[in-house]
Amino acid sequence: MKILLATSEATPFAKTGGLADVCGALPAELRRLGAEIIVVMPSYRQVFDAGVEIHPTDIRFDIPIGGKIVDGRLLMATLPDSSVPVYFVDQPEYYDRGELYSENGQDYEDNAERFIYFSRAVLEAIRGLNFVPDLIHCNDWQCGLIPALLKLEYRHGTGFENIASLQTIHNMAYQGSFWHWDMLLTGLDWRHFNWREMEFHGRMNLLKTGLVFADAINTVSPTYAREIRETQMGCGLEGLLQHRSDVLCGIVNGVDYGCWNPKLDTHIAQNYGLANWKEGKAVCKSSLQEQLQLPQVSDVPLVGVVGRLASQKGWDLMATVMERWAGTQEVQWAVLGTGDSKFEEWLHRLAKDHPSKISATIGFSNELAHQIEAGADMFLMPSMYEPCGLNQLYSLKYGTIPIVRVTGGLADTVVDANEQSIADGTATGFAFDDYDSYALENTLHRACRTYCDSPDIWSGIVETGMRNDWSSAATAKRYLELYGEITQRIANPAFSH
Ligand code: ADP
Repeated sequence: MKILLATSEATPFAKTGGLADVCGALPAELRRLGAEIIVVMPSYRQVFDAGVEIHPTDIRFDIPIGGKIVDGRLLMATLPDSSVPVYFVDQPEYYDRGELYSENGQDYEDNAERFIYFSRAVLEAIRGLNFVPDLIHCNDWQCGLIPALLKLEYRHGTGFENIASLQTIHNMAYQGSFWHWDMLLTGLDWRHFNWREMEFHGRMNLLKTGLVFADAINTVSPTYAREIRETQMGCGLEGLLQHRSDVLCGIVNGVDYGCWNPKLDTHIAQNYGLANWKEGKAVCKSSLQEQLQLPQVSDVPLVGVVGRLASQKGWDLMATVMERWAGTQEVQWAVLGTGDSKFEEWLHRLAKDHPSKISATIGFSNELAHQIEAGADMFLMPSMYEPCGLNQLYSLKYGTIPIVRVTGGLADTVVDANEQSIADGTATGFAFDDYDSYALENTLHRACRTYCDSPDIWSGIVETGMRNDWSSAATAKRYLELYGEITQRIANPAFSH
């Protein structure tokens, strides 16, 4: 099986969220399973700081974009600890910038042009590299034009006839919606600007385009796959997803246990595993408290939170509960995040007012994210919606009990500690349903009571979670099966339904 994975980010080269973790880990696992795979992503400024050698290639292309022809070339590296080639679309005017998509809260004005260019460049890379994949795996709106270009333009050309496409949705809320005149940049005929294809509420919508033209669609957990068809979590596209439900499935993201594993983690104060997690976590907790200037007490629960400061992640619930608890409960908070300035300001103030209970680090720090995973006793993710979520999976591995809202991937990966699940040894966390600060507060109370009053039950939950296997190896196996199903269906259209 020959696969081209197209993505707008991948660790260790460029990351703003979980998409990068998945696209950095999945290809190596697919390679181990025997797939011949290459990754194509933009050559952002950040990729040169990843500590991986990047070479030029002699592959160049001229891409029509609107009325102009924009040249570019491919650079190349190898995904660390693997033999997977990564090709970077090099076009400094588009990608040599401070950030990936936005600066100071403002999206780059030419994002449509940047990713339309990228989409065409991915297809030109196939020509230049003479690597004809069986399937192009497209991720998120940034790659949404690829299935359309493939179907409407490239499949008519030699070599492209049998290439299938898969569109993966990592988050329905980010759709790449642009004003209608950006259609001109795509090079596609205006007749595709209609409600059945690329148009959505008068605008050009690149995620919708991918969902319409891809041969199959998946998202990153079975529950989210259902939610986006049946509820407003489809962000207006639930009808289309319902229409395509025969080719839509959910596959839970896998974890790269080479990076996220307390036994191997080079960022944390002490390595530990299932056999010695109590000692290991005690050292990591104390070191984290010292670093964040929180009192170094061992028996006060320490709650960790790492994530984008976006409404999606449930910050308004956390704001309410943290304000309420700061003055009343013996609980410490270690928060790391960046994003919405409203939440940044609120966190600053809260940490300033309650320095002995709340530490808030505004910014992006991979190292601190690892240290919080290792040093906290519990990890909070009260998301409004969560396509998959990775931090709860890291938390399970680090013996840091996740407290989650029952939605999307959180529902699929965390088992609430109730009487039954505690008795049968399947509990891995604490979960609540209603998007409501009291529901969160009750669940936090439940967790804190278990932590303080029932250490044996707590240990049982920790150890069940640490034994869970959410490795990217299992995810890769599922993707390989899916690629096989899609390519077979394309090859034998008579058998498809
Ligand atoms: P999403 O992709 O919606 O942002 P996920 O839970 O799937 O959420 O993945 C988030 C990833 O980004 C995790 O690896 C998490 O540790 C990381 N991350 C998010 N915010 C920060 C931050 N401020 N500093 C370091 N890592 C972060």
